[in-house]
This record gives sequence, C-alpha cells and structure tokens, in this order.
Amino acid sequence: MLRDAGTYKNIVVLTGAGISASAGLPTYRGPGGLWSDRDLAALSHTSALQTRRRRATDLFWSMRSALAGLVPTPAHRALAAFEAGLPPDARFTIITQNVDGLHQAAGSRNVCEYHGSLARWRCEECDAVIDPPPGDPPEHCGERMRPCAVLFGEMIPVDAERTAKHALRDCDLFVAIGTSGTVEPAASFVSWAHYNNARSVLLNLEAFEGARQQFREVRTGSADELVPAFFRE
Ligand SMILES: [Zn+2]
Repeated sequence: MLRDAGTYKNIVVLTGAGISASAGLPTYRGPGGLWSDRDLAALSHTSALQTRRRRATDLFWSMRSALAGLVPTPAHRALAAFEAGLPPDARFTIITQNVDGLHQAAGSRNVCEYHGSLARWRCEECDAVIDPPPGDPPEHCGERMRPCAVLFGEMIPVDAERTAKHALRDCDLFVAIGTSGTVEPAASFVSWAHYNNARSVLLNLEAFEGARQQFREVRTGSADELVPAFFRE
C-alpha cells in the first residue's frame, strides 16, 4: 500500500502497452507473423472497414481470440489490489490505452477504456453492441460487426474523454505506466494533472526524451517490478 495513499483523494493511473507486455500477446508482425507491418497499419485505419472489411475484421477477430487466453500481469493485479484497499472516500481511476481487458480481468473496477475494447463488437447498421461468443467473426444486419475499439482516424469515444478529463481535473496523484509521455494522450494528461498541482510519476521501461521535464518523478524498469513496488511503498 502506497504509504501516504491516505493523503490522496483522487488518484489517476494511465496505462499503455507496457503494462501488458509480459502477458505475452502474440506478435502479429515480422517474418512468420500473420500480418506485415504495412498490412497492420492499413487495416487498423477506419477506412479499411469500407474498403477491406472482411480482412480488417478478420485481423481484429484473431487479436480478440488471442487475448482470450491471456492472464493479467503482476502489474495489473497490483493496481486492482491497491484499489480494493483504498478508503471509500478516495477515488481511483484507471485510464487505459489498451484494448485487452486485462485490468477488468485482474479485478479493477473503475476502468476508463480510452481506446475502447476488442471484447465488445458493434453493428454499424443498427448500433447493437454484443460480447460475441468464440467462433466466427460476428455478423449483424447482414454485415460483419466491428470491434468497439478506436481505430486510426477515429475520435476518442465521448464518454471516455469526459471521464478522463473529469478525473484529471481533481487529480492529486497521476501515475503513467508503460506509455510514452511524449505521445497523446499522456502528454496532455500530465499537464492537466499539474494544473491541480498533482504529484506526477512515470513508471516506464525507459526514460524517453523529455520525460524528466514532464514528470516530477521518473522510474525505469519493467511494469511488473515497478508497479507492485510503487503501490506497496
Ligand atoms: Zn444490426
């Protein structure tokens, strides 16, 4: 338990790909991978849903199937345990850029999926949203459904944006984990947290350029070492 956790009333944690690295999501890239980098980039753009819908949805469906076999990492579990131990008057929000659902699988309750989720799929004809069973990619209204994940070229969901801004506005401890602070949204998030004079901490594999100007504290290492240690201090 963060020793001075009681002094924080509104903790916001931003997580990126680095927190899920050790969960072992299979790689889709490179020689022997299922898709080339070029394919991945092209198919992950929203326009592919018009031009190559089958191939694009095949890709997302196979990623979703791969995620089904993953278990949360020690870092995911440490965040869930920390949240469970907080006093009732403290707010704890995880804003995640990941679409893998591993925070929820670890037991975290207040998770804002900033880039949506691969778990849920939506019909673009009638807006029905389902959590499809394993098997073939789901269809609805005579068309392949799409994942409720934010693709390149798409906006952040309004609800997610509102939740994130609201949490950051009153934030007194902001911790970014496994994400590059130079890329949005982390860069804006840390600035917003500083408007409220929050303590800001980066836990990341490396200190990217400018990290020590942006964050008041920077610790480098794997998420599985840093996160349990930080939230237990
Ligand atoms: Zn439909």
